[in-house]
Amino acid sequence: MKILDALLNLDLNYLIIALLALFFTLEQALNNPFTYKKRGKHLFQNLLFQILFYVINLFFISVLITAIEWLNANNIGLFYIIELPFWLKLILGVILYDFCTYWLHRASHKSPLLWRLHRVHHSDTTMDSSTTFRFHPIELAVVYQAGNIAAAALFGLDVIALTLYYFIVYIFFFFEHSNLNYPQWLNKTIGLLFVMPDHHRVHHHQNQFYTDSNFADIFIIWDRLFGTFKLIPVSKMHYGLIEFQDEKKQSFLYLIKSPFINVKKNDH
Ligand SMILES: [Zn+2]
Ligand SMILES: [Zn+2]
Repeated sequence: MKILDALLNLDLNYLIIALLALFFTLEQALNNPFTYKKRGKHLFQNLLFQILFYVINLFFISVLITAIEWLNANNIGLFYIIELPFWLKLILGVILYDFCTYWLHRASHKSPLLWRLHRVHHSDTTMDSSTTFRFHPIELAVVYQAGNIAAAALFGLDVIALTLYYFIVYIFFFFEHSNLNYPQWLNKTIGLLFVMPDHHRVHHHQNQFYTDSNFADIFIIWDRLFGTFKLIPVSKMHYGLIEFQDEKKQSFLYLIKSPFINVKKNDH
């Protein structure tokens, strides 16, 4: 368990910075399936989301930890009814946090209120690794933290499993959003179980028929099990949302305001 302790003590932000440096460098150095200009500006805009989220989350993360520790102290949730070894609870914890996130993500596409926040992530017309950061901070700090608390309450999950889940999910996030050429065999092998970039590219398709699919973050099995899996050739895909296509609507300030305004297709 020493490796696990060391991992959990490591600040998640170090991992995020290292992943961004790695994937962004590879995107600039290698051949990409989609070549875009102005990558510096795009990176800067997306970084602003992460900085604002970090500041807001200084408060919300303490709410999250306090809530989960209270649930655990009061033995609330499934894992307090059935006895399991620590390591199994940890693995199942990661799987179940991902399971709950799948349903919350699916609900975010269905509910008009949640979609107002979530569409910020889908607005990116030139997706790359920095799109990992393009989430409305209220969605991450409030909606997803509430989802994590609900998952902990249902299944009796703890903060250790949640921390491990975040370490894994950020690796997947950068991998899924990165603008790199990956071999096709990935989809037919580990892609049977785990989310691959091609799966998540379909999720960022401008056509809503495809946007409403592949909701999983780590385990694509949720989509395969619950009938939301779609895979199509991604080489000619248009990313983003039609109502956010205008260059002005790609700015950080506009996107932060966007949940509170009616975004129309052609309001230049
Ligand atoms: Zn989505
Ligand atoms: Zn995404």
